[in-house]
Amino acid sequence: MLNFTISELVKSDTAEKAGINNTPDINSLDNLLELIFYVLQPLRDKLGKPMIITSGYRNSQVNKLVDGASNSGHLTGRCADIHVNGMTAKELYNFIKKSGVKYRQCILESNSWVHIDYKKDDLKCENLIYDGKSYVLDK
Ligand SMILES: [Zn+2]
Repeated sequence: MLNFTISELVKSDTAEKAGINNTPDINSLDNLLELIFYVLQPLRDKLGKPMIITSGYRNSQVNKLVDGASNSGHLTGRCADIHVNGMTAKELYNFIKKSGVKYRQCILESNSWVHIDYKKDDLKCENLIYDGKSYVLDK
């Protein structure tokens, strides 16, 4: 049983406001499915609580509007920003780190969400904390 839908991972308020079609290309769709199967759903199952996607796929127009990095994994559907009601971003980040789920990067990016990145040939489980200026490696 999957708790996620592709539309949750494609929905963008920024795109809607700007009238941009944020439909993913087929490769990004494939990446989104892998992100759901191998990261989001396993985390959701371990957590036992709904996870809210604040940002998933972003095409280049949408990514520019939200000031995303030009090489952002959101552009190819590999990443999602998530939060859980009743948990701080830091608590969610710590939960993910200890979950045993394999990912490329997990970033405590702000007080409101955690950024998670899945890339099947690069599952280094790197943990980073954004301190407002730069990304600091967290061991
Ligand atoms: Zn992100």
